[in-house]
Amino acid sequence: LKYQTPVSSKPRYVRVNTLKMDIESAMHELGKATTVMKDDLVPDMLVVPTRTDLHDHPLVMNGSVFLQVLDACAAPGNKTAHLAALMRGRGKIIACELNEERVKVLGTSITKSGAHNVDIIHGDFLNLDAKDPKFSKVRAILLDPSCSGSGISAERLDNLLPSYSQDDIDAANSQRVKKLAAFQRKALVHALSFPVVERVVYSTCSIHQTENEDVIKSVLPFAASLNFELATPFPQWPHRGIPVFEGSEHLLRTDPTEDMEGFFIALFVRKRVKKKIIR
Ligand code: SAM
Repeated sequence: LKYQTPVSSKPRYVRVNTLKMDIESAMHELGKATTVMKDDLVPDMLVVPTRTDLHDHPLVMNGSVFLQVLDACAAPGNKTAHLAALMRGRGKIIACELNEERVKVLGTSITKSGAHNVDIIHGDFLNLDAKDPKFSKVRAILLDPSCSGSGISAERLDNLLPSYSQDDIDAANSQRVKKLAAFQRKALVHALSFPVVERVVYSTCSIHQTENEDVIKSVLPFAASLNFELATPFPQWPHRGIPVFEGSEHLLRTDPTEDMEGFFIALFVRKRVKKKIIR
């Protein structure tokens, strides 16, 4: 087992599958290896120190505790398959995709990936009811929404698109970017609204500030009202967000020239108040 000493104050959350085990027994079992607390909000949620790796814990292996993740804009499914691999077949991934053709591609990718813990929803993420019981256990959301793709290398674009000139692409982008940013912002606000979500990743393959830092900046007051703060994915990565607001250093960018593709990541983590401590 890989239990590590906590190095920061941000805890991890574990939902106990009370069909299989009661909370006190789960606390007792997990408490043999690490510090465990009850969450103050969610009755079947336990809090363990940050960096605690529970993937190999017997309670996770036997289904007594599990992790649920929502991939909000999922097709063609590259990141869904990656999530499934990271979760090593445990927990549940809900993959949502709006476009009918792309849902088929998503299904094929998931089958090919060998993942068996993915449920596909063909629908509009914006219309998913965050309060629906089927999302009541969603603790992480990946939001990789439609974007301008301005960070995608020209070579890859050639493979993805019919042959548009650079001027056509620029013109189309400049008109689309604002519209896209409005959707991206709405989708991010919606993701942050899921009742027990603790981590929301927002990513784009755009280099435009409008789709990246500006979207994040615009949701910060709403995010803070729900106790979310920006965390720093890959802190050792040198290239951070454009400094247009305090906290943009948490954001991660890759450079289309230096790093081959332009990509952007923001990570929101919800702070929670801890309750009772047992050892
Ligand atoms: N995460 C995917 C991957 O790594 O393979 C790529 C996602 S792609 C950038 C964005 C996807 O979001 C597209 O397939 C698009 O059809 C879908 N999409 C756009 N609007 C949506 C909505 N309102 N609800 C759900 N999916 C949506």
